[in-house]
Amino acid sequence: MWLNSILRPVPTRIIPPITSARLPSSSFDFLPTIKPVAVITSAMIPIVRLATSIFTFRKAKVKPAASASIFPYFPLTCYNLNMVSLSFELGLIRPPSEAYSLLIRATRNCPWNRCKFCRTYKGEKFSLRTVEEIKQDIAKAKAVQDRIMELAQKQGDSIASAAAAVYNSAFDPAVRNVALWMYAGGESAFLQDANSLIMKAGDLVQVLSFLKDTFPSIHRVTTYARSHTATKKTPEELAELREAGLSRIHIGLETGYDPLLQYMDKGVTAAVHIAGGRKVKESGISLSEYVILGLGGEKLWREHATETARVLNEIDPDFIRVRTLTVTGSMPLHEELESGSFIRASDERIIEEERLLIKSLTCRSHFVSDHVTNLLQEVEGKLPEDKERMLAVIDRFLALSSEEKTSFKIGRRLGIYTSLDDLDDSARRRAVAENINRLRNGNGLLDDKKLYALMEGFI
Ligand code: SF4
Repeated sequence: MWLNSILRPVPTRIIPPITSARLPSSSFDFLPTIKPVAVITSAMIPIVRLATSIFTFRKAKVKPAASASIFPYFPLTCYNLNMVSLSFELGLIRPPSEAYSLLIRATRNCPWNRCKFCRTYKGEKFSLRTVEEIKQDIAKAKAVQDRIMELAQKQGDSIASAAAAVYNSAFDPAVRNVALWMYAGGESAFLQDANSLIMKAGDLVQVLSFLKDTFPSIHRVTTYARSHTATKKTPEELAELREAGLSRIHIGLETGYDPLLQYMDKGVTAAVHIAGGRKVKESGISLSEYVILGLGGEKLWREHATETARVLNEIDPDFIRVRTLTVTGSMPLHEELESGSFIRASDERIIEEERLLIKSLTCRSHFVSDHVTNLLQEVEGKLPEDKERMLAVIDRFLALSSEEKTSFKIGRRLGIYTSLDDLDDSARRRAVAENINRLRNGNGLLDDKKLYALMEGFI
């Protein structure tokens, strides 16, 4: 498995480059912001992304933190080679909010693995890991941490600077994971993969206790789980997990509309979502529910919005996190899209759907839009007090002229705009206009497929 982690480098979405001395906010996703450039075509996006990565990589080498020049650490390559034996397993993904968490793989892949809109673990077999295996990984992470601390001491530099230098020169994903986590202050951990609650509660308690004992600086430990699995845990087991240090569970609710849950083969009903979510909340563990905007497509957007709001109102999670549907070739939904049985909703429709969802929410959750696929990432706030402000952002988008909407959609997908206010920036507007001309087909029309490809290029 060690060899496997070397041969199959973790995608950059797991570990973003360190781009500046100040860490980005929690809404930072896995890609560096693409600066406005004169002309970007969809075919150039991978090149732009590569160039931007190189730019940020070089920039980070020069000044990732106040005094983190890589040169005092030369030759770090040899140093990092010494850490190869400390490599440990990593899973494929983590939530955007866990970009700077220490990643520890508790189980491998997804025990359900049937959702039509998900490609993450397709073709991979689920397996449990033993407590001993997981503890060994934690011990290796500790050894990497010790090496980085020694290095900082030897150089008379800060831990953050030493961590940044190791991060920028290491090739091993696990070593980089520890370095990035240390650079960010070392306060949180995320247990991978898709459903850690499937472990026996006693085993998970042992892992959590060992993790907290090994790293006293960790104040927050979070993980993914399925609602169905949460319903199988007793209140006492969930309380034990909370006491052992499990602070938050991220659940993929996706939708609260039963026919859509069935169509997407999510393997749960709205009632199970409510039961699982409530159980987590009642245990005192923080709960984050993920919703996929656009999941109902053009046909079911209203039902998706209203039923999802109903289920969320019944759960009242601490966080509601939205991301937007993407459809790539490796998802079963792709075939349905090709055959015409699933009709994708337009960006405008998805924003209408988001409006209906927020309007129908009566819970007291934090609404978070921290995924790069979302058109309006600025629609965020605490419910109910920020509801009107969030709706006003949506209404501002819906009131744009068709030309402005097109500019915003493409500018966001190219990373040129981040918020609606950027439409007032004439340099950005010009850059987007030049790109729009390049995205038009022979009839002068914009091809939706090209627009979707821009969004999907980011995941
Ligand atoms: S349960 Fe989660 S990880 Fe598993 S297939 Fe569904 S969406 Fe993907």
